Amino acid sequence: MKQPHIVIIGAGFAGMSAARTFRRHDVRVTLIDRNNYYTFQPLLYQVATALLEADDVARSVRASLRGQRNARFLQADVSGVDHDSKEVLLADGSRVAFDWLINCAGSRYNHFGVPGVPEHAFFLKTLTEAVNLRSHILSCFERASRDGAAAPPGLLEFVIVGGGPTGVELAGSLVELFGRVLPKDFPEVDTGAVRVHLVEAQDSILTAYPPRLRCYAANVLKKRGVQLHLDTQLAAVTAEGARTADGQQLASRTIVWAAGIRASSLAPAMDSPLGRGQRLELNADLSLPERPWAFAAGDIAGQLGDEGPAHPQVGQVAIQQGRFAARQILARLGRGRVRPEFRYSDRGNMAIIGRNAAIAELSPRLGGLRLTGFPGFIAWLFIHLLYLPGHRNRFGALVNWAIHYFTFDRHARLITEMVPGKGDCENRN
Ligand SMILES: Cc1cc2nc3c(=O)[nH]c(=O)nc-3n(C[C@H](O)[C@H](O)[C@H](O)COP(=O)(O)OP(=O)(O)OC[C@H]3O[C@@H](n4cnc5c(N)ncnc54)[C@H](O)[C@@H]3O)c2cc1C
Repeated sequence: MKQPHIVIIGAGFAGMSAARTFRRHDVRVTLIDRNNYYTFQPLLYQVATALLEADDVARSVRASLRGQRNARFLQADVSGVDHDSKEVLLADGSRVAFDWLINCAGSRYNHFGVPGVPEHAFFLKTLTEAVNLRSHILSCFERASRDGAAAPPGLLEFVIVGGGPTGVELAGSLVELFGRVLPKDFPEVDTGAVRVHLVEAQDSILTAYPPRLRCYAANVLKKRGVQLHLDTQLAAVTAEGARTADGQQLASRTIVWAAGIRASSLAPAMDSPLGRGQRLELNADLSLPERPWAFAAGDIAGQLGDEGPAHPQVGQVAIQQGRFAARQILARLGRGRVRPEFRYSDRGNMAIIGRNAAIAELSPRLGGLRLTGFPGFIAWLFIHLLYLPGHRNRFGALVNWAIHYFTFDRHARLITEMVPGKGDCENRN
């Protein structure tokens, strides 16, 4: 009998977890991604702030699939899906036929129509963007050192938009870079004048966390020198800075947009209903309405069923959904039990604010424990080491973290050539 062919689009958390679930089964799997590596996005901010190297947070897909004989990897840009012929369309015009499909193409930035964001802001969604941001930040210091008093206004003002975990972690890491590491490299630059601003439209940062943890995080950030602008919306971004809705001007050459995401452009390409954030509306078992051969998992997946939840766009959901979608396909092939609905097993959330300071909240199912400070920091380190892909990556990250912890130094302070289109979020992902 012909082996069923399963095509998975996207080698992120969801796609990798789906591919591995087929490991011991008599099926043929093709995993397609535009990059030949898998990115551990939660640590991209550490690449942008010179704490980790780019290859500490990414791993070759082929290396990850080595040993899985029924899987092959295809590096290609997917442009759409033809459900009538059951083919995935590639940007180079070729097609890949499938029997079953899992779309795990993730998400991209949502700039909510704020003028100037696509052209002038920096993003932190891909490895290239993280390396670009690091090079840009270090270049600002090189220029400040060169130009002295003649440096343009706002050169050493860094604005992060969005007080979610990404914005908070980036702000915390930047103040440590500017306060502890760069003064040794740039004694001629007045690092006391460097500012990090965190702009949040709501009246609190980290709104998904309980008030006590939010307050703790806000207090630590303020104590460490981050200027918090709560209840503040951006009206426009230009090459010289940002303007807030209440008319305030923030002079800056570095606006980092961490204020929200929407589903990948491959959600509309599925020719299926879309919900909030352009996420695919799915049946409760992650299949597409009226297309029982097609599934979606991860950030691209939205509301499940008419009354069901839309789960948060986080790594744990993506991993569990990828595995679930793969098991559904296997069950329909007669290998296992068909389950009517996906149920998310929430283990909790955590965010790091900086050295010895993190917040963690376990789910009520696991005791509901809430940690701050050093215990939270240790829990954060442990979990991130556990989930980093590959032993080499874990070892590299651990060594860099240990060096930083004990010497206050950050090794990855290289300025590399910027890849153009830093703010081209329309066309990304
Ligand atoms: C900066 C940052 C920090 C984060 N921090 C956390 C955190 O601390 N904890 C947490 O749980 N979650 C965090 N997240 C969210 C988490 O990373 C995502 O929820 C998770 O990556 C989603 O997994 P996914 O598989 O759906 O998508 P992704 O991991 O984004 O993978 C999608 C894959 O699809 C590929 N792809 C997309 N379009 C195409 C195409 N057209 N053709 C070919 N390939 C394509 C991409 O290259 C990518 O490899 C963070 C995200 C970011 C950006």
